[in-house]
Amino acid sequence: MKTAKNNIEILRHSTSHVLASAVLEMFPEAKFGVGPAIENGFYYDFDLPRTLIPEDLPLLEEKMKEIIKKDFPFERAEISTEKARKDFEKLGQTYKVELIDDLAKEGNKKVSVYKTGPFVDLCSGPHIESTGKINPKAFALTKISGAYWKGDEKNKQMQRIYGVVFETEKELRQYKIQQEEAAKRDHRKLGKDLDLFCFSDLVGPGLPLFTPKGTIIIDELKKAVESICRKYGFEKVSAPSLAKIELFEISGHAKKFGDELFHVTSEKKHDFVLKPVQCPHHTQIYASKTRSYRDLPIRYMESDKQYRAEKTGEVGGLSRVYAITVEDGHSFCRVDQVKDEVVNMVKIIKNFYSALGLWGNHRVCLSVRDYDHPEKYIGDQKDWDTCEKMLQEISNEMNLSAEKQEGEAALYGPKLDFMFKDATGREIQIPTVQLDFATAKKFKLHYINEKGEKISPVMVHRAILGSYERFLVLLIEHYAGAFPLWLSPVQMTIIPVSEKFSDYAKDVKKKLLERNIRVEINDKAESLGKRISETEKQKIPYILVVGEKEMKDGTVNVRTHGEKQQNVFSVDEFVEKVEKEVNEKK
Ligand SMILES: [Zn+2]
Ligand SMILES: [Zn+2]
Repeated sequence: MKTAKNNIEILRHSTSHVLASAVLEMFPEAKFGVGPAIENGFYYDFDLPRTLIPEDLPLLEEKMKEIIKKDFPFERAEISTEKARKDFEKLGQTYKVELIDDLAKEGNKKVSVYKTGPFVDLCSGPHIESTGKINPKAFALTKISGAYWKGDEKNKQMQRIYGVVFETEKELRQYKIQQEEAAKRDHRKLGKDLDLFCFSDLVGPGLPLFTPKGTIIIDELKKAVESICRKYGFEKVSAPSLAKIELFEISGHAKKFGDELFHVTSEKKHDFVLKPVQCPHHTQIYASKTRSYRDLPIRYMESDKQYRAEKTGEVGGLSRVYAITVEDGHSFCRVDQVKDEVVNMVKIIKNFYSALGLWGNHRVCLSVRDYDHPEKYIGDQKDWDTCEKMLQEISNEMNLSAEKQEGEAALYGPKLDFMFKDATGREIQIPTVQLDFATAKKFKLHYINEKGEKISPVMVHRAILGSYERFLVLLIEHYAGAFPLWLSPVQMTIIPVSEKFSDYAKDVKKKLLERNIRVEINDKAESLGKRISETEKQKIPYILVVGEKEMKDGTVNVRTHGEKQQNVFSVDEFVEKVEKEVNEKK
């Protein structure tokens, strides 16, 4: 079971012992659970006589600093499981006794314990030499939460303390800055502040409702992605949310999603499932006619809701929801057309992400078969060979520098995955291009070749922005709410200097609305300064201030979000400038 650990993991886990030791000082009757290393730090679970409060954390940090200063060595001893059981029983450490019993059941005759000062822990190690090796200025306790013993809801709930630890004070400082920045950009907070989406107890959890503003962003994204795809021959289709389960039994999704499928029945004996993916519906549009080799490629796209009964871990957020709007597309083509299809899909992805300023902030993975077990995959090995080679060629020709990942292919074909970094540095996979040799065969799809024979087409699945919900999370956090002009729900606010200029403001608004510009007026009974700063807080791209001079000249005084300088334009000039920027997606 022992795995090699690197130094930073050893430091992280060792700091969890120091935390446990500090907790023991504060609560001599504390019972200890487990305390592993995690990303950036560690946690430790405790059963304590009272509930911890945030004010406990600085006190514990002080105690930890004292323990570090005393430079206790981490002393390892190997003892028999019987002796360990007795020792920990004597200490009243019932959770550790349970762990020792588990180890004994697995056949362990001996266990190791680590002693640091007065604290003894059951632990396989390894550890740093002594507590003094921890930099007292490079660790922090970050939060308290509840956690069930052994992660099982039926067990007692313990209290978990999380901490972070680094080698240097500078790294800790950077971590804290990044956390503050991430909190400011948290899509749940910004989504509420900017009025983009909401939830209702009556509708149910995991079912986000998009407000008029949020819907504008989704519609603009939809228009943008569809307009690029149309240039590459994709045609829009539309399928219902329901289907008979047989559809998904044939495709294999019924088995794949199992209890994540939503079943819909009626008193009239209907028995449907809500679609968890769109591909099977699309195969049936293909199957509605006889297709000739000259008809291919046939390309369909659809942005529609898909439903999966996933566990929702997050409250009030869009990251994990039951209903997601997926932008999905499929190309049915001949083997000799696959390369062009994939190249075009990669071009679409590059185009779309470049427009958003996200291209470059990514890496590409080429997922291929596990060559030791080619029998695990569906499809002709010859087709696999051809297509894997082809994807590699595409990666080279298009400078994608795709990293080859053996064994990561889907069961039905190899794929290219594009991973992007979000505002907190986390990697998320969004666009993907997947070759599929199996689905067309399962549904007995075919086309008639030159010789009049029936041949199965290859299906290429592509997602450009994946789900709108997850994509919105990425965008909200990426722009920290300051959307570019073309995506901004409100593109500009007109602020009349005083009531006297309200009518002029309304005239300007009317002109802008006629040109499909999303504009609001802020003529609340508040000072000009207050109205300007309020509008700035909403991160609206343009503020147009109008007063005596502007009314006389037929102009607007324009402030651009994030810029100090103000510019005066005639209304017509300004409309032209805005239309150009929207078209160029600046
Ligand atoms: Zn340990
Ligand atoms: Zn698909």
